[in-house]
Amino acid sequence: MISYVTASATHVGQVRSTNQDHCLITGTIVAVADGMGGHAGGETAAAIAIGELSGIRGVVSTDRLIRVVNVANQRIMKEGLEPSLRGMGTTLVAAALNPETAELGLINIGDSRAYRLRDRVLTQLTVDHSLVEDLVREGRLTPEEAQSHPQRNIVTRALGIGPDIEVDSFGEQVKVDDRYLLCSDGLFNEVSEDDIAKLLNETEQTVAAVDALVDTAVKAGGRDNVTVVLMDITGEDFADTPATVAAVDRGDIDTVPTVQDPANIQVADPTETLDPIPAVPERDEPASTKRRRWFGGRSLMLMMSVLVVLAVGVAGSSVYARAAYFADDVEGEVAILRGRPEGVLWFDPDVIENTELPVESLNGASKELLNNRTQWSSLDDAREFVSNLELVPVNSEPTDTNG
Ligand code: MG
Repeated sequence: MISYVTASATHVGQVRSTNQDHCLITGTIVAVADGMGGHAGGETAAAIAIGELSGIRGVVSTDRLIRVVNVANQRIMKEGLEPSLRGMGTTLVAAALNPETAELGLINIGDSRAYRLRDRVLTQLTVDHSLVEDLVREGRLTPEEAQSHPQRNIVTRALGIGPDIEVDSFGEQVKVDDRYLLCSDGLFNEVSEDDIAKLLNETEQTVAAVDALVDTAVKAGGRDNVTVVLMDITGEDFADTPATVAAVDRGDIDTVPTVQDPANIQVADPTETLDPIPAVPERDEPASTKRRRWFGGRSLMLMMSVLVVLAVGVAGSSVYARAAYFADDVEGEVAILRGRPEGVLWFDPDVIENTELPVESLNGASKELLNNRTQWSSLDDAREFVSNLELVPVNSEPTDTNG
């Protein structure tokens, strides 16, 4: 029987006005979702994904996780039809531990990551589904260039993009003293992997470690929401009987990033089994490898989850790329679109309004302005831009640039 300690922390960062990251710690499942797509949309999409996962009880397989993620995707697609939530989506990384077999199942879609710290070495377990990751793989970008690339936030896979999603899944055999870190890109875009490893190696307590990681990311700039969940594998004792483990109602655990009591300790019930991960041979570890961590006198049999969530509002404003507006020539008519003009992957722009104003009726200067595809932060600004476009005077040649 594996024992473990989990903790999470999240912060809105120094630039954004809302925190669209969500995270989850239930008995055996941990997850991080990073929402995207407008002011309300991203928050909603991430909450849906985490909400669906929070309904799972017991030890589960990655297949089960993926089925639940597909249900979440259908909900996000459906609720995304609402105009205010249009285009919403979310990344997701989740892990489910089977304490009996010491197997950890992981899934991910998008660019939120899972790392493992073992023997002081940090290893990224997930592969990002992002534009820069594709470019690195194709040799068109170095990992160093990717780190600061202006389009590093563009994901190529996410929940909410379409009815069919492709989720990566894999398994890990955990070892005592392993640390499993799940995080949103707000962490690794601000803090180098060397520094993440250093912090994890220096900070033994689970709660202190998540605090240190989030704090470092925020102080480094905090240009995005930052969320981390840490699962520390603290011991194993195959002689323990599950019958002695205290039960808890996991439905009580608040998975929304609101201010929580840092001392809120949840004890999980590993005896509840719905969909077990296929059994793996029990490892024959000598008793001397057992060790206890900071919770000291408590029994190794206890499955403890500590949920610490920092949700501190920091003044500032941010506009998601999705919330940009611009005017363009759509089938010969001036239209207002939402998204990025370059229309890359996730950010394919949508036509919001078609003015039915023929592009050919514009004078040369206005055509040029239209061609610039200037981005506006609000729909009203884009409308004003369109209303200021000048027409070719009647009886004048369409190519007349003097108006
Ligand atoms: Mg993010």
